[in-house]
Amino acid sequence: MAEIGSNVNVELKPTEQGYNGPGFQLTSIDKIVGLARSKSLWPLPFATSCCGIEFMATMGANYDLARFGSERPSFSPRQADMLLVMGTIAKKMGPVLRQVYEQMAEPRWVIAVGACACSGGVFDTYSVLQGIDKIIPVDVYVPGCPPRPEQILDGVMKLQDLVKTEQFTRRESPEYKALLASYGINVN
Ligand code: SF4
Repeated sequence: MAEIGSNVNVELKPTEQGYNGPGFQLTSIDKIVGLARSKSLWPLPFATSCCGIEFMATMGANYDLARFGSERPSFSPRQADMLLVMGTIAKKMGPVLRQVYEQMAEPRWVIAVGACACSGGVFDTYSVLQGIDKIIPVDVYVPGCPPRPEQILDGVMKLQDLVKTEQFTRRESPEYKALLASYGINVN
């Protein structure tokens, strides 16, 4: 912890792994790409009910998702890489969600926000999808009914950790293609 001025404390972060010296830093492409991606995730809010309101609060001035590099919500799947699914997903809505996911370019990540998106929540009934991971792969699950904005931020930070450490070539790997294939999603 370094002290600046009389009463402002700033926590100094360690530098990224690699070799460094005055004016230079050597590291691997994986780490640089991961760092850049993790600090510039563009969210696509797929909100169908109450949890969407919590996301609105998360975007507002008090919680300010912009601090994490995610100030640009996109309602076009082609210009987003972080799909946040918030709310009850009826089975009839499933194909729409699936289409939105398929329209996103790689690399793309998914956060299931709230009990309904994670597992169907209290709606254990014939018409409600019992978790979005029945139709698309999910990277982070945020529990709660509804989760508070702090929990959504925590979910985004967990995703940032994943993105930061993801291998640059993972999307081309047979394992990733097998994962998508297990959902019946076409990979070229
Ligand atoms: S998890 Fe709770 S708050 Fe969120 S959409 Fe479902 S019922 Fe609403």
